[in-house]
Amino acid sequence: ESTFKVENIIKDFPILNQQVNGKKLVYLDSSATSQTPTQVTDSIVDYYNRYNSNVHRGVHTLGTLATDGYEKARETVRRFINAQYFEEIVFTRGTTAAINLVAYSYGDHNVSEGDEIVVTQMEHHANIVPWQQLAKRTGAKLKFIPMNESGELEREAIEQTITDNTKIVAVTHVSNVLGTINDVKYIAEVAHQHDAVIAVDGAQSAPHMNVDVQDLDVDFFSFSGHKMLGPTGIGVLYGKRELLDKMEPIEFGGDMIDFVGLEDATWTDLPTKFEAGTPLIAEAIALAEAIRYIDEIGLDNIHQHEFEVVNYAYNEMSKIDGLEIYGPTPDKRAGLITFNVEGVHPHDLATALDSEGVAVRAGHHCAQPLMKWLNQSSTARASFYIYNTTEDVDILIQALKRTKEFFSYEF
Ligand code: PMP
Repeated sequence: ESTFKVENIIKDFPILNQQVNGKKLVYLDSSATSQTPTQVTDSIVDYYNRYNSNVHRGVHTLGTLATDGYEKARETVRRFINAQYFEEIVFTRGTTAAINLVAYSYGDHNVSEGDEIVVTQMEHHANIVPWQQLAKRTGAKLKFIPMNESGELEREAIEQTITDNTKIVAVTHVSNVLGTINDVKYIAEVAHQHDAVIAVDGAQSAPHMNVDVQDLDVDFFSFSGHKMLGPTGIGVLYGKRELLDKMEPIEFGGDMIDFVGLEDATWTDLPTKFEAGTPLIAEAIALAEAIRYIDEIGLDNIHQHEFEVVNYAYNEMSKIDGLEIYGPTPDKRAGLITFNVEGVHPHDLATALDSEGVAVRAGHHCAQPLMKWLNQSSTARASFYIYNTTEDVDILIQALKRTKEFFSYEF
């Protein structure tokens, strides 16, 4: 049983209280972008109405307030993932930017010809293309940890793929398509046995489960604000201090410099070394507010609630003839279900569901290598968050049944 009342939560999300195509909106696309509670949007308005100003420079009052807000947000993020030091939290534009930072800054200086970069076939494009490019720049080899038929990474496969030639292991914590939850703590252990670093894509895990970067012992961990009740345009790169310390910036300009001469310059300390230019001030402050909102409910409660909803959805969807669900069983998956209905193209399916007010995603979900593995060009996906209920699932099921019936008519 959920320990929090969804009715109370929904009140904080005015966007959910609307009709789409004449029907109550049922939003099942939080894995792409989650909705934002008024506490978070209020914090943005409050920032612009009260203390909008540049950070780290001015001595005037507004500048100090903005700097305090921004640096307190960093501290909130540090606590959220239990990083040891505030210097380990770098604000970025999102997960994609965070992963690219690691690929360029760590990758270009630590990977060379003949080395291996280990990824998986379940990666989002954001965690595969930067490594393909790094492999091309350096002459390194890209290797894939094979999945079992349920789309999981078994220990043996992990042990066999990571070798002494491996320099970087880049793996997602939770698959945005299969919902697979990877044992990144174990993968980190194996990577470290071979003196490789592990960079984890946490875009789909940080919003939904407790993440403790020290316990997982991962070297890099990236996530995005807009998938965890926060605003768009901000994300986080966590990196171990001893690694970040040795890394060079990939962007240069204001704020990140220490001293600038005519021919050369030196950098500030962490973490501003990686935050050139005016940072994402309002966005960081709003992300911290989203974290406060999540903390108040508790990530364990959120995880439990999503499990109940996804378990119910999985069972009900399994009863529909010709509906195929991809990925592991509900006890081993996160709160999303990727599926196809026989005889209905996923885009037609998503369009038909939208006409009933139900928002699901259709396409390749930025995971074309995984689509290849599934032998599908595209799929539909329903994803759940704290504001979704089993009633939402009932509406989805009814809409799916009607759609299937409609498409099975012979014209
Ligand atoms: N990785 C995964 C697993 C994702 O689901 C996403 C977003 N769909 C990303 C990376 C990229 O995140 P962003 O677009 O916020 O950079």
